[in-house]
Amino acid sequence: MRYAEVSVNSPAARRRTFSYAVPDGMDVREGQAVLVPFGEKVLQGVVLELSSVPAVEDTREIIDVITPDPILSAHYLSLTRWISDYYLAPLFDAVALMLPPGFERRAVTFVSLARPDIDVSSLHDDQRKVLQLIPGEGRVALKKLEKALGKKKASSLVSSLVRQGLVARSYELGPVRIKPKKELYITSIGDISQSSKLTPKQVALFHFLTEKKVPVSWAEARKITGCSKSVADALVRRGLAVFQEVDVRREPISYDNISPSTPLTLTPAQQAAFDAVKSALHKAAPDVFLLHGVTGSGKTEIYLQSLAEAVRRGKKGIVLVPEIALTPQTIERFAARFPRRVAVLHSRLSLGEQYDEWHRIRRGEFDVVIGSRSAIFAPQPDLGLIIIDEEHEWTYKQDNSPYYHARAVAIRLAGLTGALVLLGSATPEVESYFKAQNGEYKLLTLPERVVPTAGAPLPRVEIVDMREELKAGNLGIFSRSLSHAINEAIVADEQVILFLNRRGAATFIQCRRCGFVLRCRRCDVPLAQHIPEDVLTCHQCGYKTPVPQVCPNCSSRQLKFLGAGTQKLEQETRFNFPRARQLRWDSDIITGRTSHEVILQKFRRREAEILIGTQMVAKGLDIPAVTLVGVVSADTSLNLPDFRSGERTFQLLSQVAGRAGRGPHGGRVIIQTFSPEHYAIQAAARHDYASFYEQEIAYRRQFHNPPFTRLARLLFVHTKDVTCQREAEKMKKRLLEEMAARGIGGIDIIGPAPAFIHRLRGRYRWQLVLRGPELSTFLSPLDLPHGWTVDIDPVSLVQ
Ligand code: ADP
Ligand code: ZN
Ligand code: ZN
Repeated sequence: MRYAEVSVNSPAARRRTFSYAVPDGMDVREGQAVLVPFGEKVLQGVVLELSSVPAVEDTREIIDVITPDPILSAHYLSLTRWISDYYLAPLFDAVALMLPPGFERRAVTFVSLARPDIDVSSLHDDQRKVLQLIPGEGRVALKKLEKALGKKKASSLVSSLVRQGLVARSYELGPVRIKPKKELYITSIGDISQSSKLTPKQVALFHFLTEKKVPVSWAEARKITGCSKSVADALVRRGLAVFQEVDVRREPISYDNISPSTPLTLTPAQQAAFDAVKSALHKAAPDVFLLHGVTGSGKTEIYLQSLAEAVRRGKKGIVLVPEIALTPQTIERFAARFPRRVAVLHSRLSLGEQYDEWHRIRRGEFDVVIGSRSAIFAPQPDLGLIIIDEEHEWTYKQDNSPYYHARAVAIRLAGLTGALVLLGSATPEVESYFKAQNGEYKLLTLPERVVPTAGAPLPRVEIVDMREELKAGNLGIFSRSLSHAINEAIVADEQVILFLNRRGAATFIQCRRCGFVLRCRRCDVPLAQHIPEDVLTCHQCGYKTPVPQVCPNCSSRQLKFLGAGTQKLEQETRFNFPRARQLRWDSDIITGRTSHEVILQKFRRREAEILIGTQMVAKGLDIPAVTLVGVVSADTSLNLPDFRSGERTFQLLSQVAGRAGRGPHGGRVIIQTFSPEHYAIQAAARHDYASFYEQEIAYRRQFHNPPFTRLARLLFVHTKDVTCQREAEKMKKRLLEEMAARGIGGIDIIGPAPAFIHRLRGRYRWQLVLRGPELSTFLSPLDLPHGWTVDIDPVSLVQ
């Protein structure tokens, strides 16, 4: 007898596999998807291992295989185990990351007669009813029996009939949610001269279709001719046209408008970096490179040429970019170099598109897969190179279970497959740079810009001390210096980006008389005012309420709208620079019709002089006419109680500053702040990563933070605050006892303390932060009670 260790799709399965017997004659392999009995249910599972001895004595049998071939290869099976062990995640959650889109389905139970000649006379009425509902040689869904007889009754009746050998159960997976995509095509037939009384529109459509000769998509025909469906229907009724449904392959990239590109001649610095990658690719041993290149230094060209090199060696690549940077422009740069050989995976694709891309990737149809975080799990065969652009970005960390970091997964996967990892950033994460300094990663550096010309200087940066503005009587959003610079740029017919990392108009509303701050009823955060709807909104849960006329606490009318967001900045900009046209770009604007692309295109086409925005404007915009970038407040991320706040500020400022001066007119950056002496701001203003890093790593060492240690965050959530506190204290005690019992030292426990956002969507949150080595190993045997979540290597402690 053979046995299979199966990861089962049930929350009750948690981090373990279950042993099942493989029935004789069933071809079951490792990595195969199967149906297994689990309690009363039949569930999907994936075979992680086969063995000749079961882990438990009493095993049930695998019911059936779902796919004839293994769905996960050996590398991905061990990656699954690692994710579950390291991030302490339920095993099937880790498996699910790697399954094809839409794969998870429920099994449906059917009942059929076990033999044709059943003597019903010995049965009682209810049992007879069941048999009557089964169509002769066919089968009936258990659901249908449940509807007719009641849920409990149906299943007990079926069980007894099965025991008597009169009926049999069978299982089948529920309906596939993804179907081939169909499109309506239309073509003309017949002779129009035979028809009279056609409207001019009908005639026009007929001629359009006749000229085309072949069937055309109705959507396209409608767009070009401006005819409505009723016009086409009229033609069809008169026998002059026919509609047909055609299967179309979902293709996220439209190559028609992309002209192929050829490799650029590399600068000496680029060449040196590329040579290092190239020789590592020849060795085909796993290795991690960190490419540190200032904004506009030509990192992407190195990615492209490295991918080409991998392809020459018969390998394929995966490229990860932050979701927000996965714009048509980015995709185009890759698609132009590898025409029809690039797949795209991201969450904005429909499930159907994801499904098609996944299966084509698996068949080896693409040299390059480009996508956001989860694209690391794309089933790319012959993986030779994994590129992670903007490796410092937090979006690479999943913010629900499993809390994996795509970079850590990539390095693990590379170790399994022998692929190379290439991390790129203008502002590498301090922990990554530390590893590069230590030799754990290999450091490659591009110190100079290639745009607009090789060795072009980075933009000049001026820091404005907003305390001085206050002293001089300037209470406005704009310092005198920024105002002046904006006016100059407008006069010179240049473009300006204004950056403010806060949405809304006022970011909090306070009563002048009693000091009361309006807060969300369900979350412990201040409400922000949003215009033009003129509502107060919670940025955590989306709760909206009208702006009150009086203070809810003391009924005073002196409500003060404080803290400016992008909407307020927009108003102020219109007021101060009436001659300039402006665009706003933040997540409030991005609704239904107005997409990122629309705003970007408008700005590119110079339909506005000033672009106002949140982080979105900081990422990867490359617009040559931008000569001025104004950071309206550098302080938004500076004062958060998180040891990474300095690093975040430095990264954000460096990125925004990198948007200026990509054209022939150079550029300048003005940073407004109340903390001009802060090292992160100072270093960003000098484009000085090295000095920022020196200061930051010294602080990390001094306060014993990563990379000198590791963190795990344990969060408890409950509707009652006292319960949270009690549970957190209990957990701390338990952890301390566990350490003592297992003789483990060197782990600190910080807390318990309320989380930075103490209440979210009506539930209170308390946390414990563990600091020390090997935290997964320490926590692994502890079965955390309901209500707890663990985040290993959290990227933020203020969420
Ligand atoms: P980064 O990703 O480092 O910010 P990019 O790769 O976007 O920089 O490069 C910025 C611009 O420089 C792009 O328009 C790119 O085509 C151009 N570029 C890169 N390398 C070269 C080169 N060797 N010669 C000429 N232009 C280059
Ligand atoms: Zn009040
Ligand atoms: Zn809320």
